[in-house]
Amino acid sequence: MTFPVVGMVGGGQLARMTHEAGIPLGIHFKILSDTPQDAAAKVVREVVVGDYRDLETLRAFAQGCDVITFDHEHVPTEHLRALEADGIPVRPGPDALVHAQDKGVMRARLSALGIPCPRHRIVTDPADVARFAHEGDGGGFPVVLKTVRGGYDGKGVWVIDSADDPAAAEPFRAGVPVLAEEKVDYTRELAANVVRSPHGQAVAYPVVESIQVRGVCDTVIAPAPGLPDERGAAAQQLALRIAAELDVTGHLAVELFETTDGRVLVNELAMRPHNSRHWTQDGAVTSQFANHLRAVLDLPLGDPRPRAPWTVMVNVLGGDYPDMYPAYLHCMARDPGLKIHMYGKDVKPGRKVGHVTTFGDDLAEARERARHAADYLRGTIDE
Ligand code: ADP
Repeated sequence: MTFPVVGMVGGGQLARMTHEAGIPLGIHFKILSDTPQDAAAKVVREVVVGDYRDLETLRAFAQGCDVITFDHEHVPTEHLRALEADGIPVRPGPDALVHAQDKGVMRARLSALGIPCPRHRIVTDPADVARFAHEGDGGGFPVVLKTVRGGYDGKGVWVIDSADDPAAAEPFRAGVPVLAEEKVDYTRELAANVVRSPHGQAVAYPVVESIQVRGVCDTVIAPAPGLPDERGAAAQQLALRIAAELDVTGHLAVELFETTDGRVLVNELAMRPHNSRHWTQDGAVTSQFANHLRAVLDLPLGDPRPRAPWTVMVNVLGGDYPDMYPAYLHCMARDPGLKIHMYGKDVKPGRKVGHVTTFGDDLAEARERARHAADYLRGTIDE
């Protein structure tokens, strides 16, 4: 059998959907999952349950894999170096992935490359936050504080309003370095996503708008409405350049802030399939998951173009009802064009348990359809 074995570290929904994309290609897929109940562990045949922070567990998992890739970015960098030293291809490699793991390293590298970022520096204590606030042009509060490692979905991010804001002490309790940033007065968040393979082929998806609610991605619109062509092309070029400079292999998401004066600043990087590209499963010729697999296997990449003028994805968060299945009747009857993706996770309030996607010629209509379905599944509306 020459069909390769891809080993993905992590058993969440990203692994579940990557697995799905590999099935038609006949690719063998193995995961290292924290628990047997994780979203991917429920559907993948070859599951190793274990702790990705333990090198020997990783080594045992990597045995028989042709390549190792990730559904999250938390594997310690030194463990990835050890796997590479054992001769196992790790994609993205540790020197690239560290920029998605550590916001301090990412800011330093992007700034050195001349890529526009918010004003930032590492701060040592609340008094240093106050000093940072008043450095440089346009300084002052509010200031955004982030732990450099370990944050996700807005956890690990604090907005500090004044020098005596008691929240300024909190980030320092985690015992990891704290990054201070100017609070960017952005009009919206965009994401530029590219996929790059080891031999350097890369494709860019259209730039999308991503709407966050309470720090969690709520809606993604592809392409970003009203984005001038040249600004979209510049953001794609920026993402391609970052992927090449950092030697990223696989999917790279570049999260961006668009400011009132038309600037585009980098917020953060993710090097794995990403929520901002779930729309590609139904809305693009080749999904991010399929292209991530092609890239880590160094196969030619698939066409990233959209299939329809507009695609809208809305995340389904857990609500009051533990069982969403009865809502399928209404959602499917109301909208035969609706695409539902559920992750097989237990419903807990506010937890991402799935997403819905719609596409068509009319943006307002596509948004209404996706919004309605997500709210109905969650139980916030009842018709
Ligand atoms: P996470 O790793 O949790 O996704 P992010 O760095 O993406 O953390 O920050 C989460 C959210 O906080 C962003 O989506 C954005 O809304 C807000 N945010 C982060 N950095 C800034 C900043 N410098 N200025 C304004 N808002 C910010």
